[in-house]
Amino acid sequence: MQREKSDMLHHEALEHLVGGVNSPVRAFKSVHGNPIYFEKASGAIVTDVDGNELVDFVQSWGPLVHGHSHPEILDAVYQKMQNGTSFGAPHRGEIELAKRVKKRFSHMDKVRFVSSGTEAVMSAVRLARGYTGRDLLVKFEGCYHGHIDSLLVSSGSGLATFGIASSPGIPKDTVATTLIAPLDDDEAVDHLFNEHGHEIAAVIIEPLPANNGLLVQRHEYLAKLRGLCHKYGALLIFDEVISGFRFKDGSYGEISGVTPDITALGKIIGGGLPVGAYGARSEIMEKLSPLGPVYQAGTLSGNPLAMAAGITTLDLLDEEAYDRLESLGQYLDGCVEPILAKHGYPMRLMRRGSLFWFSPSSAQPPARADLIPSDAGMLYSDVHKGLLERGYMLAPSVYEIGFIATVHEEHHLLGMAKALDEVLEELEW
Ligand SMILES: *Cc1c(COP(=O)(O)O)cnc(C)c1O
Repeated sequence: MQREKSDMLHHEALEHLVGGVNSPVRAFKSVHGNPIYFEKASGAIVTDVDGNELVDFVQSWGPLVHGHSHPEILDAVYQKMQNGTSFGAPHRGEIELAKRVKKRFSHMDKVRFVSSGTEAVMSAVRLARGYTGRDLLVKFEGCYHGHIDSLLVSSGSGLATFGIASSPGIPKDTVATTLIAPLDDDEAVDHLFNEHGHEIAAVIIEPLPANNGLLVQRHEYLAKLRGLCHKYGALLIFDEVISGFRFKDGSYGEISGVTPDITALGKIIGGGLPVGAYGARSEIMEKLSPLGPVYQAGTLSGNPLAMAAGITTLDLLDEEAYDRLESLGQYLDGCVEPILAKHGYPMRLMRRGSLFWFSPSSAQPPARADLIPSDAGMLYSDVHKGLLERGYMLAPSVYEIGFIATVHEEHHLLGMAKALDEVLEELEW
């Protein structure tokens, strides 16, 4: 596959954009080669500027559950655009999208729309702090919640402790309000609550952590967090930016049988346009401005084009669509499993619905970030390159998951599995 034009654009971009990109993982730093410049995308297929066609398992990192350029979503946006691109004033679309969100997240009485997942989580955290009048946050190693100062924190030494900033530019006082615990560890959270329980405003978790591999949690563990929050008067925030609207059986909270106080959403609810949202019961949401004192605002919040894309995306996500995603997922399992077995399990496939991850070890996929081998990226970077050469695009990092969209077809999945077989053969696994 020739990528001359992509390479030329990348070199040009390096002069104008930091690392040539506007979001770091796009830079291909942890895999071979340069970023690929897209020309257009339709359904499951992306066409790059050199004219190569790739089967896309990244799908814009999750929002495109119906694939690229879905005709009904495009049409809804075109139609709305005739009436204006942004109002900065209320319109019907906001009510319509809110109704659809509430239907799936039954603990929400009220919804607030913002423009990204980061903004949704940031605002949910502020609301939790405002509501409880407390400062401390508990977050988990291996969960990503966007690039918010107080959540860009990793664990220092020790099991459950105050975190250290994982980026320069974050004041010490900011991270001093974040406690960090390993996932899947009952003792660690008991310890944190014993020490600090009455100062904790909120526990925030991705109930299905999907930003550091796919680290599936025990439902009892999520229930334990619920119990601790209840006992100490802290709020439980579920970050469902990835998992929200992903499953037929409802929110991930519903699937796990655990009801959070606040849920943050993003990705799918914008259908490929910038939308985030958060919601909770009235008593909590009414602390928010204009009804309450907790401030949060946005020039483009509730943007009519974004609402239209979200509404259409959710309306297309009927039972049949969810069944299709699950059956494609099962088909992927069936294609990939024998190939991994044949090669002695250089990695394992972990899948929940349309989300999948190649866990980089022969062991069963872990539930904790620190159990991912530190050399995990080595094999993955070769696999990534080999698959790209054969026309299949996975995320350019071993820690990122893959996405199946309703527009994928069995031959795309089978083709990827066959390509994987060839690549592992070539690498002499
Ligand atoms: C993607 C993601 C975010 C951040 O959303 P952005 O729209 O990239 O700001 C937050 N939390 C989770 C769980 C995510 O997957």
